[in-house]
Amino acid sequence: MCILDLIWINLSMLAAEYKAVNLGQGFPDFSPPQFITEAFCKAVSGGPPMHQYTRAFGHPALVQSLAKFFSRIVGHDIDPFEDILVTVGAYQALFCAFQALIDEGDEVIIVEPFFDCYQPMVVMAGGKAVYVPLRPKEGTAVLSSGDWVLSAEELASKITPHTKAIVINTPNNPLGKVYKREELQMIADLCIKHDLLCFSDEVYEWLTYDGAKHVKIASLPGMWERTVTIGSGGKTFSATGWKVGWAMGSGHILKYMKTIHQNSIYHCATAAQEAVAQGFEREHELFGTPQSYFQQLPAMLHHRREKLASSLKGVGLQPIMPEGGYFMITDISSIGESVDFKDSDTKDENYDFRFVKWLIKEKGLATIPVSAFYSPEHSKEFDKYIRFCFVKENSTLDAAEEILKKWSQNESSH
Ligand code: PMP
Ligand code: GLN
Repeated sequence: MCILDLIWINLSMLAAEYKAVNLGQGFPDFSPPQFITEAFCKAVSGGPPMHQYTRAFGHPALVQSLAKFFSRIVGHDIDPFEDILVTVGAYQALFCAFQALIDEGDEVIIVEPFFDCYQPMVVMAGGKAVYVPLRPKEGTAVLSSGDWVLSAEELASKITPHTKAIVINTPNNPLGKVYKREELQMIADLCIKHDLLCFSDEVYEWLTYDGAKHVKIASLPGMWERTVTIGSGGKTFSATGWKVGWAMGSGHILKYMKTIHQNSIYHCATAAQEAVAQGFEREHELFGTPQSYFQQLPAMLHHRREKLASSLKGVGLQPIMPEGGYFMITDISSIGESVDFKDSDTKDENYDFRFVKWLIKEKGLATIPVSAFYSPEHSKEFDKYIRFCFVKENSTLDAAEEILKKWSQNESSH
């Protein structure tokens, strides 16, 4: 199993120990919208059923509101009781997908960079992870996440008779890439041609910028039957601690995931599910209007994205502008050379890991090393980037800017 698994724990602990300004782990440091916290309070102060077990595969109110909401988007009549499984965050939806649908010896193609838990989850299911990296386009300045592309030939070359599934994440963590319809069509064509499943992690689906459009691969012809789409109430309503997630797909696939869920977790917190259901009811009514949180959150984050990008540019770091999500990566090779890491015990680690630890300890700023989102075979190739999270208060982003400015002034005075 990959030793990088502990990044969230280790780096969050280090950030707390050094009281660092935290642009590391991806969670909002501001309150969720009032309508959703009120819905939670109402649920908690509701009658006895809100405090007891509910339906194992998803609280009825939640599966019904998810089905109503997403049927319109996927263009398919989603059956609330067959086609949806509510889980303890998107994490558990992913876990159920791998456990239920990947058997001993199956190969799973993962597009890099990828959310780090996919790899251990494949291994725990007895499968083998096979990687295909998104690569920066050659010959052009790489300024946007859209400049990172997947080669159709390279992807096709990884498919063998053992391949069972392709895993994608759009908008992507950490890069912010939002797959275009043509890119998804290319992946869909391969899934259909080789009879593969697709696990599509779409936890940042509402967060797109500059006109980028999130497309659900499950909505492409022939894909509903073979796609498990994964979502997160925590990311959707800025309440990551609630841990309400879901998997959506054809009942003939979901039934295997339900077996895993039923025999491990059984169900997740009733009141939290009720609140997320109320949130989706509200969003269904306000869909496409300026009052919708799915418009307000990206509008707010658009500003934060600009603010962070300008702080980075101000100290000579070139951000790769994300088209979606709430992370931004930047190349650190230009500044890294002047850094004296001091810690001799970290010298075997990837460069970005050493840099991130140094940045926390010496400058009080927490970020995440991007090579953590790569397989061991490719991580050295991509260890000159770090990830900043911008789903933060303006004051947090200001504090980060101050640190960067001071550091850059010190550097230039030497
Ligand atoms: N997938 C991706 C791409 C993520 O960034 C995260 C982190 N939130 C998850 C899944 C897990 O989501 P949750 O917090 O709902 O378990
Ligand atoms: N998804 C969040 C991130 O990428 C949090 C991950 C975690 O805490 N395990 O930062």
